[in-house]
Amino acid sequence: MSAVPNSSMAVGGARRVVLATHNPHKVEEFGAIVARVRPDLEVVGYDGPEPVEDGVTFAANALIKARAAAAHTGLPALADDSGVCVDVLGGSPGVFSAYWAGHRKDARANLELLLDQLSDVSDPHRTAQFVSTIALVVPGPDGSVLREETVEGVWPGRLATAPSGEGGFGYDPIFLPDDQGGRSAADLSAEEKNAASHRARAFVALAPLLSALER
Ligand code: IMP
Repeated sequence: MSAVPNSSMAVGGARRVVLATHNPHKVEEFGAIVARVRPDLEVVGYDGPEPVEDGVTFAANALIKARAAAAHTGLPALADDSGVCVDVLGGSPGVFSAYWAGHRKDARANLELLLDQLSDVSDPHRTAQFVSTIALVVPGPDGSVLREETVEGVWPGRLATAPSGEGGFGYDPIFLPDDQGGRSAADLSAEEKNAASHRARAFVALAPLLSALER
């Protein structure tokens, strides 16, 4: 992960965009996607202070993270927030997906609690979506904000009654995407998931915003 200088111009003139994450895998993933649309942009990781994510929507949390990164670095900033939304639970776990079974953030406990909560719910009522929201914040001079936008990707499906599959993470073993013929998201190869997922769909929506960024 490269360091973040306090300027949007890198050596050689490549423009930089900061991704509000400390996760180098995410930087790589976003870097590859951004390069397809804007090969002149370099995605760099963020190592500044982390804001409190106290939003109650994916968009609010993504904006909180992107604003903090933009303000700290002076660079255009991207941030994502995602989760699983179950219709019969009114869209929960939603923004609470990572710690549905408690703040220890135990992915297996989260999944098992959700299965338990839905144990009496029949298949037609087990519809759910994975949702990914990406925020873009473009800072102006003197700490102002020139632009703020969010895009969303939704991957519709339903919840299985038992986990299956070895891949993925989080709720993947109990999520049956509508477009995958009954396989769970954890049954898919990384390539299959990356081509179809909520994040892939959000990236499609992000492309025109990246194209419109100053060159
Ligand atoms: P984050 O905010 O993007 O880190 O995601 C929050 C939580 O949503 C994760 O900890 C997972 O529980 C859940 N989640 C988001 N995306 C996925 C996915 O692709 N598969 C499974 N779970 C996911």
